[in-house]
Amino acid sequence: MSNSKTAKADIDVLVSEVGPRDGLQSVKRTMPTTAKLDWIAALADAGLREIEVGSFVSPKLLPQMADCADVVAGARPIDGLTVLALVPNLKGAERAFAAGVDKVTMPVSASRAHSKSNINMTPEQAVEQVAAVCRLRAERPDYRHIEVEAGVATAFGCTMEGAVSEDWVMQLAGMLVKAGADSVCLSDTTGYANPAQIKRMFKRLHAEIGDKCGGAHLHNTRGQGLANVVAALDAGVMTFDSSQGGLGGCPYAPGATGNIVTEDLVFLLESMGLRTGIDLDKLIGARSKVLAGLPGETLYGNVADAGLPKGFQYASGGRPA
Ligand code: ZN
Repeated sequence: MSNSKTAKADIDVLVSEVGPRDGLQSVKRTMPTTAKLDWIAALADAGLREIEVGSFVSPKLLPQMADCADVVAGARPIDGLTVLALVPNLKGAERAFAAGVDKVTMPVSASRAHSKSNINMTPEQAVEQVAAVCRLRAERPDYRHIEVEAGVATAFGCTMEGAVSEDWVMQLAGMLVKAGADSVCLSDTTGYANPAQIKRMFKRLHAEIGDKCGGAHLHNTRGQGLANVVAALDAGVMTFDSSQGGLGGCPYAPGATGNIVTEDLVFLLESMGLRTGIDLDKLIGARSKVLAGLPGETLYGNVADAGLPKGFQYASGGRPA
């Protein structure tokens, strides 16, 4: 379903690494720029083709992301990598486009309370920002290749509002496509989703917006992360966000910690016969780069702890090149 330039024929599922953004923004300490770039290079070397390298938000709000333009500049030369950054509004997109990103992702919260606290806008105002960013892209020939993704945050429930209307989420997705977004993802920002809900909503999303249907951004807060991945696969989702070592969460949704773990996600997909293009040994090796930049940080993940099973076979039959 992804229309990302990186979703090439040699892979079945695109794994989009969000650790350097979603992960690092929830850690109080700031990883030095050179350490971020070492980590990103190691992830790309392991076969990751899309990495969310940071967030163009106010450095006052998230000092950990203050070097985002430098990180984008440093990641750009990496061959075959889609350099993705989060932008909350037009101002952020102006900075991201000038820095040379390939793609931006814009969070639009379905929950009004979360939207207010996360980006200080109503959902409707956030949709208007997506439209403004798409207009900015159309204005300049050197910006036209940049992909604009919208992510519906708190799509499966909100720590502040509780249940979120599925009809409203679908309506919002339609509004985002109308605003010019290339794809619309659904995010379980709070870790509330269950597999039945995931399957139902992604099927509905596909019926609603067709090939603009984007990926799934899932958290493992209540242990449902990988079960939700399998449910999303059943609904035809082909792009998943995840974070190395499960780093991250959402600082504005209290208690909503823990992206799904990239290492475990890749193992799941490859075991199920779905090619990711990612080398698990190299991926597990990249954990040392997180620890080099953030000494003593806690990393999660079962596959890194247990190791690969004896005789493990990649979906392609051989090791990813
Ligand atoms: Zn997240």
